Amino acid sequence: MIAPATVDPLLPLSLLEAVRSVDSPRDDQDAEYVPELRNKRLGLSETVYAQIRRYTAAVRKSQRAPQEEAVALARLIGRRADAQEVFMSAGRILARQSFETTSPVTRRVIFVLPSLLARPLALREARRIAQRYLNGNIRRVGGSLMLEVPVSVTVDSAPKERGCAYYESVLRELVRLLVGGAGAVEHVRCVARGEGVCEWRAEWRRT
Ligand SMILES: [Zn+2]
Repeated sequence: MIAPATVDPLLPLSLLEAVRSVDSPRDDQDAEYVPELRNKRLGLSETVYAQIRRYTAAVRKSQRAPQEEAVALARLIGRRADAQEVFMSAGRILARQSFETTSPVTRRVIFVLPSLLARPLALREARRIAQRYLNGNIRRVGGSLMLEVPVSVTVDSAPKERGCAYYESVLRELVRLLVGGAGAVEHVRCVARGEGVCEWRAEWRRT
């Protein structure tokens, strides 16, 4: 029997936290109407809070979550008019939280070493993060970093590759955190285009 596919709990947690953050009232005037907003906005519902607590506990205990749960969450987000914004926000959240699992010593070393020496270390961290948190693979090709995700959680969640914005956003933020670059990220291959896997290319350089 093949074991069911799982994801790191930080992945579904990043989706939920993005929903909560996008749906949070932005000023005091909004806050007065929170009870009414609760009913309308997915991000403020009790269900979302309960799920956030559950995945937060799973992160603490290093318990992986069923991939299908993350796919179902992505589908819910995919129905929203602001799906792309939520996926981009979730991607940044995942990149930041997974980057925090890099040891402070490694992070400091990456920043103080000249880029020639720092980059192999940064690449190793990027690989570790992609494997653990995205079930993906990272490789360097010349001055680019390629992220390949064979089984995407978000690809079927919304039309026009909107769901793929999630991984794109993770990669962009990860490159920014690791080498300070904020170069272009391109979605070079996509399951939705019948290309077998989803793959992104990012510029890999220190600015
Ligand atoms: Zn794609």
